[in-house]
Amino acid sequence: MTVKIPHVTLNNGVRMPLLGFGVYQIPEEQTQQAVEDALEAGYRLIDTAAAYENERAVGRAIAAAGIPRDELFITTKLWIQDYGRDSAERAFDRSLDRLGLDHLDLYLLHQPYGDYYGAWRALEDLNRDGRARAIGVSNFYPDRLADLITHNEVVPAANQIETHVLFQRTADQDLMRRHGVQHESWGPLAQGGQDFFDNPVLVDIARAHDRSVAQIALRWLVQREIVVIPKSVRPARMAENLDLFDFRLTDDEMARIAELDTGRSPVFDHHDPDNVTWLGGVRFDT
Ligand code: NAD
Repeated sequence: MTVKIPHVTLNNGVRMPLLGFGVYQIPEEQTQQAVEDALEAGYRLIDTAAAYENERAVGRAIAAAGIPRDELFITTKLWIQDYGRDSAERAFDRSLDRLGLDHLDLYLLHQPYGDYYGAWRALEDLNRDGRARAIGVSNFYPDRLADLITHNEVVPAANQIETHVLFQRTADQDLMRRHGVQHESWGPLAQGGQDFFDNPVLVDIARAHDRSVAQIALRWLVQREIVVIPKSVRPARMAENLDLFDFRLTDDEMARIAELDTGRSPVFDHHDPDNVTWLGGVRFDT
């Protein structure tokens, strides 16, 4: 069965699937199989990053699948150590080389630290010459996003931020809507923490629709027009996470889920100075 995945249109006219497959924390040796399984299941958006150290395996899976390039939507991200205008462009070339591609569909600044202004200017150049069809950011809280938009030419096409039923980001989404920045969720299942799959409200709504808790949590995001990129290495879960487009949550169910917002991340505090210092020193083999 081929699942029809809806698309959103980014602020530069590029169309992006509303649902994709993320490969964070999938070890390099498992990534090729996982991505091949995901493409077989019907995913066309693959989300990786130089920092995940599995771009080569993603590239091998893309080559093995033989799907026409224009049917795929490939995202990768630039890590902080490679920020700055010149080093960003070189790091982009290395990512493309590892992925075996000649262009990207979406290239993101992974974090809002270090010389992200210099890096953004490099991304603007890559966007202008067509090697990155769209460019965006990740983990940008509203203040930094507004600042970046104010002082640069190209408005980010997307901002990929932690978003799930426990951390809903409604004010972030309002700001992004005002500026035409597509909201993309990472950790849509809260990475499976916080007893996520036993949440009584989600369990109750899942029963009412004869669906899984994962499907309710993901449906809630896509119904808010937020792009989701859940991760699983299990083909049965990949298929389950795709199967969101033949049911709707009612207004009452959306309102019950809205009550679950804690307003803070259970995963990572981007405002904690110790975290900022730590992240700024993390090096990857990019
Ligand atoms: P996630 O919320 O997608 O959770 C993944 C975990 O949920 C898996 O380990 C799996 O055990 C479980 N799971 C998946 N489907 C399930 C199902 N149907 N039933 C039960 N359990 C299920 O977390 P994530 O992988 O961190 O986030 C998704 C993607 O977002 C990543 O793979 C990555 O591409 C991206 N991401 C980006 C950033 C960033 O800083 N930009 C950070 C984290 C993740």
